[in-house]
Amino acid sequence: MNKQIYFDNNATTKCDEEVLKEMLPFLEENYGNPSSIYEFGKDVKEKITLARKQVAKLLNAKEKEIIFTSCASESNVTAIMNAVKNNPNKKHIITTSVEHASILETMKYLEDVGYTVTYLSVDNKGRIDLEELKKSINDDTLLIAVMMANNEIGNIYPIKEIGEIAKKNNITFHCDAVQAIGKIPIDVKEIQVDTLSMSGHKIHTPKGIGILYVRDGLPYIPLVFGHQENNRRGGTENVPYIMGIGKAAEMILEDNYEINKKLKYLRDKLEKDVKENIEDVMIYGDLDNRLPNTSSMAFKGVKSEELLLVLESFGICVSTGSACNSMIAEPSHVLKACHADLENYSPIRISLGKYNTEEEVNIFVKNLITVVNMLRRRK
Ligand code: PLP
Repeated sequence: MNKQIYFDNNATTKCDEEVLKEMLPFLEENYGNPSSIYEFGKDVKEKITLARKQVAKLLNAKEKEIIFTSCASESNVTAIMNAVKNNPNKKHIITTSVEHASILETMKYLEDVGYTVTYLSVDNKGRIDLEELKKSINDDTLLIAVMMANNEIGNIYPIKEIGEIAKKNNITFHCDAVQAIGKIPIDVKEIQVDTLSMSGHKIHTPKGIGILYVRDGLPYIPLVFGHQENNRRGGTENVPYIMGIGKAAEMILEDNYEINKKLKYLRDKLEKDVKENIEDVMIYGDLDNRLPNTSSMAFKGVKSEELLLVLESFGICVSTGSACNSMIAEPSHVLKACHADLENYSPIRISLGKYNTEEEVNIFVKNLITVVNMLRRRK
């Protein structure tokens, strides 16, 4: 059995040992309920405050602007529904055609109940047009929801400019920053965002913890009612995971985004080696403005599902798109929106992480060359 090579870090990441170390005492001896009034609970509450500080620092936010949730999907839905509840007389929302399912499915629901949604188009590189955004705004627009970076092609979107447009037009602005966290420094004040979501399991915590940033002063109506999180998100706090995401945030700031240099070096080397050794390769996305770890590539005539399965037999994990859609045979909505020729060029997504090495990249490329040639010969 080959050693596993995990190149699917946009789907999820391995839990960091330091993160786990921070969490373990709260699964073992420190199991008190932070809402209890005795010391055993109060100690835990103080630790939650510390974790909140760490996350706030990562985003340049105030502590009271940070709400712990169960995942970024919950954060996205909460943010959208909050905007809807805050603007009962408005019925129009603007988003993009390349958002994550948690945004798009919420939009579908809202359309079903009478809202109008404008899905901004993207060009063949997956880029949006700010003029189209400006033209889409009308007196009925209550929310603009645009992701910071795309999970499939890695495109980075002009969030600061979108924040300015939203502010100028007095429209709430939500940003899904899940894939950007840890790769792009984020300052919520600078980007003038009203709400922003992030997820722990993309930055080396276990799955099941998310963050919702809510700008101080923005009226807020919870999705899950209850007394926790200052009455903003009911449910006994997931203390060990909160400790984990606090530590993960602290580690990102300690590293000061240095990891990007390694990720970009490895990703660029991988793409260069692939292009030098395989004919008819397509690389999707905005190649000049992408996350440093992501590559969406296709090989003419090779079906990505077949490629994926053979690579898996070599112990290599990549994906055909977003993890949430991997069980659906439907082509990627992101690449469809880019008008990609998916019949001939069906993509695999390679997303690197901090544990990946140059040796793994070399093994991957070697195996990929063999597999693509084999699949092409079979035709
Ligand atoms: N938004 C984006 C861009 C994502 O890539 C993901 C997960 O893949 C999510 C939201 C959902 O995150 P979670 O798994 O924490 O719900």
